[in-house]
Amino acid sequence: MKQKFNISIIKGDGIGVEIINEAIKVLQKVGSIYDVEFDFSQYLMGGVAYDTTGDPLPQETIDGVLQSDACLFGAIGGQKWDDLPRELRPESGLLRFRKALEVFANLRPAVVYDELIDASSLKPQVIKGVDIMVVRELIGGIYFGEPKGKTATKGWNTMVYTKTEIERISHVAFKLAQKRDKKLCSVDKANVLDVSQLWRDTVTEVSKQYSDVELSHMYVDNCAMQLVANPRQFDVILTGNIFGDILSDEASMLCGSIGLLPSASTGEKTAVYEPIHGSAPDIAGLGVANPIATIASASMMLRYSLGLPKLADSIDEAIKQTLKDGNRTKDIGAFDAKYILTTTQMGDTIVSNIR
Ligand code: NAD
Repeated sequence: MKQKFNISIIKGDGIGVEIINEAIKVLQKVGSIYDVEFDFSQYLMGGVAYDTTGDPLPQETIDGVLQSDACLFGAIGGQKWDDLPRELRPESGLLRFRKALEVFANLRPAVVYDELIDASSLKPQVIKGVDIMVVRELIGGIYFGEPKGKTATKGWNTMVYTKTEIERISHVAFKLAQKRDKKLCSVDKANVLDVSQLWRDTVTEVSKQYSDVELSHMYVDNCAMQLVANPRQFDVILTGNIFGDILSDEASMLCGSIGLLPSASTGEKTAVYEPIHGSAPDIAGLGVANPIATIASASMMLRYSLGLPKLADSIDEAIKQTLKDGNRTKDIGAFDAKYILTTTQMGDTIVSNIR
């Protein structure tokens, strides 16, 4: 029987509209080949939602996304809404959205495409073959811990993790490692922080349920260094909110352009798949945005939320083939380009390479 999935779509603002349109085309093509049907329902969020409804995150959007199998998200924000009161700004809508969906696990793969090896600031021999998955805890740790506050002479935040919070993100990371190279590096600061010692003890305890995964521990300062010194040693990196914030940005820059990098935010409810970049108002409407990060996010959605790894592989291969043939958007146009394509042309070329 034909498999059917309901996908909620949030295009958002700026280039969000352009890049999501390309990802939808790719999903439709891969669905038609593998006999899988995707029903897309669009919801408003961000500046466009504010303009239409007066709220950057209408309740209808939360309800619709919660009822869907997965959400594909473009980007929100732009100067037009920057002077609104904070609670009405698109970015506040995004934080409320993540909270409403309780997406505690942020997955950010950093894959270096051979064809774009010169796009990185590191030497090709260091980054060739890099394929890292950073798993970052997203709704706990120092960004949320109490007490926090500031006076004229003192500022303070609290880094708190409960055992339960560490366990649930650990399970996500170990399960991912099982599907990859079965290597997990947990990153903490256990030599100094008590909360990190609990992190380390708990990850070690959870690891007993995943005997096929090789666990190692690393201090965060060393990890920051190792990521640029020898990034190929990593498969899955598991870490907390603030360390993951910093390390995932560092890891993503191994790859070249921000227009290439997908992400997933997952929890117990509907997961959200989105490029790591924003709405790029400077290039919105010009047809030059790179849609690859969004198309790769759609691939992650198939793999992690919908259990369709063959379809995900097919998209990933199509992206690689497209780059191999010398197709580039403007952001990566300086690296072995044969053809500089518009956003739509890049989407169409990836569609035509799906087998
Ligand atoms: P940005 O990621 O939108 O853009 C940074 C730079 O990268 C710009 O020069 C842009 O042109 C370029 N760029 C981004 N995506 C690209 C793509 N796919 N192809 C080619 N070039 C690309 O970050 P910013 O300029 O700091 O923020 C712009 C707006 O986006 C702000 O309103 C910000 O709040 C919002 N934002 C939203 C999200 C989100 O929706 N998840 C994330 C980050 C920023």
